[in-house]
Formats: sequence, C-alpha cells, structure tokens
Amino acid sequence: MTDQTFDVVVLGGGSGGYAAAIRAMELGKSAVLIEKDKVGGTCLHRGCVPTKALLHSAEVADTIRESLNYGVEAQFGSINMAAVAEYRDGIVSKKYKGLQGLLSAKGINVVSGEGKLTSPTTVAVGGDTYTGKNVVLATGSYSKSLPGLEIGGRVITSEEALKLDYVPSKVVVLGGGVIGVEFASVWRSYGADVTIVEGLPHLVPNEEESISKALERAFRKRGIGYKLGARFSSVTQSDSGVVVSLESGETLDADLLLVAVGRGPVTANLGYEEVGITMDRGYVITNDRLETSVPGVYAVGDIVPGLQLAHRSYQQGFFVAEEIAGLSPIVVPDSNIPKITYCEPEIMSVGLTKAKAADKYGADAITSYDFNLAGNAKSEILGGSGFVSMVQVKDGPIVGVHGIGPRIGELVGESQLIVNWEAHPSDIAPFIHGHPTQNEMLGEIALYLAGKPLHTL
Ligand SMILES: Cc1cc2nc3c(=O)[nH]c(=O)nc-3n(C[C@H](O)[C@H](O)[C@H](O)COP(=O)(O)OP(=O)(O)OC[C@H]3O[C@@H](n4cnc5c(N)ncnc54)[C@H](O)[C@@H]3O)c2cc1C
Repeated sequence: MTDQTFDVVVLGGGSGGYAAAIRAMELGKSAVLIEKDKVGGTCLHRGCVPTKALLHSAEVADTIRESLNYGVEAQFGSINMAAVAEYRDGIVSKKYKGLQGLLSAKGINVVSGEGKLTSPTTVAVGGDTYTGKNVVLATGSYSKSLPGLEIGGRVITSEEALKLDYVPSKVVVLGGGVIGVEFASVWRSYGADVTIVEGLPHLVPNEEESISKALERAFRKRGIGYKLGARFSSVTQSDSGVVVSLESGETLDADLLLVAVGRGPVTANLGYEEVGITMDRGYVITNDRLETSVPGVYAVGDIVPGLQLAHRSYQQGFFVAEEIAGLSPIVVPDSNIPKITYCEPEIMSVGLTKAKAADKYGADAITSYDFNLAGNAKSEILGGSGFVSMVQVKDGPIVGVHGIGPRIGELVGESQLIVNWEAHPSDIAPFIHGHPTQNEMLGEIALYLAGKPLHTL
C-alpha cells in the first residue's frame, strides 16, 4: 500500500488523459497517469488508428478495381483478412510502443490499474492512493446500444467489427453517423453487401445537408444501400445470420448487425457522484474552462458533453494542464473543431453550416460559395466528385468550411486555421496555393468571395 502525492493526478490514459499529463510535466508539474488497460485508449487501440488502416486497405482495393481508369492493368483478387490484420496491428503496435517511449522519456509516472475517485484530491487504485492538488478525469467512452438491443454473437459493435477475421457477405449497419458510414465504406470496398439503417432523414446528420445528400448519391453509386428515417424495431439471430426488423414492418437479413448508435461516457461507479461532481446522463458537467462542480477537479474528452473526437480530447487535456498552471489558455468552441469522416468519399468540416450561420447572424447577413471538384485539376486526377463550400458573414469572416470528395479530409488543416483565425476572404486571397492541389479550391473560393474570381464565375 502506497500513498503518493503529485501536482496532477490523471485518471485515464487515452488521448485526453495522456495529453494532460505530458503538458503538466512540460510546465514543471509532477503528474501520474492511471490507466487500467493500454495508454493510447480508444483512439489508438479501438478507434481512429485501426479503422483508418482498414479504410486505407479498402482504398487500395478500390484503386486496383479502377486501375484501368488510370492506364494500369491490374486485377483485383480478394481481401486477405489475415494480412489486413497484420498491417493494422503492426501500425497500432508501432504507435503504442512509440507512445510508451514518449511517456517514459517525458518522465510521466504511469500506473497500471483501475482507479476510483475517492475524494476531490485522491484516486485509489487497489490499496494504493494517489493524491494531487488537481485531478483530471479522462475515462473515455464505450459503444452504446439501444434499449433492449443486446450486443453478442452476430450483433456487434465497432470493437468486434475491428477484430473480424473474415469479410461478411451481407451486413446491416445500424446508425448512419461517422462510425457507421466508415464501416459501411470499408465492407463495401471489401466486397460485402451493406445496408445502413438511419433513424434521421440523412446519413451523417451533423453535416451540412448538401454534404449528406452528396454522400447518399455517392454511396448509391457504390452500391451501399441505406434506409433513412427508418426506425429499428428488433433483431433475431441464428447460427446462419440475423434478421433485423424495422418499425415499418420491413425485415433485412444479413450475416451481422453492426450497432453504431453512438458512444456513452465511462463514468459509472468511479466515485464521481459520491465526491459531489455534477453529472448529466452519465456525462461530467464542466464550466467552459473544463472544471467540474468540485473545485480543482477537471474533466476532458469523451466524458464531457460535445464532439467525441480524439483531437478534441488532446486539446482539452492540453488546455486543462495549462489552466492548472495558470496560463489561461483560449477556449476553442466545439463548432470550430475540425471533423473528418474517412469513408469514400471523405467528408471534412469546420465551423458553422449555412443553416447554423443563418440562425446566428441572420439569413441576409451570410453568403457562401460551393466550388465543384470538377473545376480542380488535382481532384480530377484523383477521380471522383464532390465540392468544397465556404460560409462567410458578408463583409466579415469565414465562419464555416465544408467539403466532400476523394481525400478531401486533407483540406481540414488550412480550413480550421481560416475559421479559428476568423480570416476574411481578403486575408487569404493574396496568398498562394501550390498547384495542382486540392487546397487550391480554398484559395479559389476566397478569391471569389473577395470579389476577384479567377477560375470561378
Ligand atoms: C471506431 C472508432 C473510430 C474513431 N475514429 C476517430 C477518428 O478517426 N478521429 C477522431 O478524432 N476520433 C475518432 N474516434 C473517437 C476517439 O477515439 C475518441 O474521441 C477518443 O479516443 C476519446 O479520448 P478520451 O481520452 O476521452 O477517451 P479514451 O480514448 O476512451 O481513453 C480513456 C482511457 O481511460 C481508461 N479508463 C477508463 N476507466 C478507467 C479507470 N477506472 N481507471 C483507469 N483507467 C480507466 C480506458 O482504459 C481508456 O484507455 C473513433 C472512435 C471509435 C470507437
């Protein structure tokens, strides 16, 4: 039994937790990071990294199928799931080793074990206690299901989907959000027959509606089926497959049902309520500086209501460490956090949609421009269609950038600088975009909105 004291005690070693510990150490604070499984959390082991490896191998499969479009004679054979797994796991384990090395090089004390908050300054792990002037809660999230929908057998979540050692021939994906459309995209590229069931009127319902519609058109072309505004009723499973029933009475049969209906916070039985932290439906409520209702206790990442993204968790971890060190970092609103959906075609967005900008500033106060990918040489070289759109407050800053198309996620870097720096089109117009790049579209739209159109009318 030990009782050790640190400046900062971090509970949970995922993106948010380890970022907080690293930044705290850099700022001269001692920090301990308590992790019950593997540092790197959901993103590295069960989320961003392994899914993007699958999506890349899916892109390779599609490229081979379409290779003659580019003058290359090649024939698609089949997907070798053992080799896919080796590639995916190789990347995850390299990144995991790298992260362990980084934490050790930074001098972070990593404690292996399940922690529980026992006071506003103490986390207990078994019989040991870790006391800090400040505590950062970063316990992450889990795959949710619907009431009465039990996970098991052929009814799976993204965790099991990632570990599948075969390509299903027919899958129903429940939920047309980011995780649902990414898996639908992978499995279709691997040759599966896929149908997405989404209760809302569109796929990726948090995006600009025109982007959702463009994705629906692209998915239809790829042969990915979807039922919109369709409500799940029940599922039965047997040795050979599942039968999914919708409230409309329609039934869908498949090998598997992937449940991708969102993620819930990991906060139950961790002592949070007992210590007096205000919670709402399992989420930890914080002020805009991420401090909970108990002074000195902060929360970051997926347990804090809002976008559940790894880079939001990193930023929040960093933010909290700087806040604890008295640096008063700036608050980035959730709407200005970049988002990428890595299905084919990719989607990226940052800032306000046209509808949200109109709500905030008034419909007459905003303007926008959609640049069709057909007008961009690099996009034409890559193949595929889509558009990039900018939303501007008239005579004011650009408040939103959105796009869909092959590899369009790469545009999010410049887009998030534009939105977060509150750039006006005339700020961007004089600068030069390399040619041919897809980023040129951002320059073209800025030129247009600044009243100096080049390749636009
Ligand atoms: C399939 C999938 C794909 C995704 N793709 C992307 C993507 O492409 N881009 C993106 O930005 N985001 C993506 N995400 C989301 C991203 O993974 C999460 O937003 C991010 O991991 C959240 O970080 P976190 O630190 O809040 O929590 P987590 O990463 O979940 O880390 C929490 C950690 O706390 C530990 N823990 C929990 N309870 C305890 C306890 N009592 N004691 C000790 N340790 C504990 C857990 O073991 C875990 O390691 C994806 C998620 C999934 C599921």
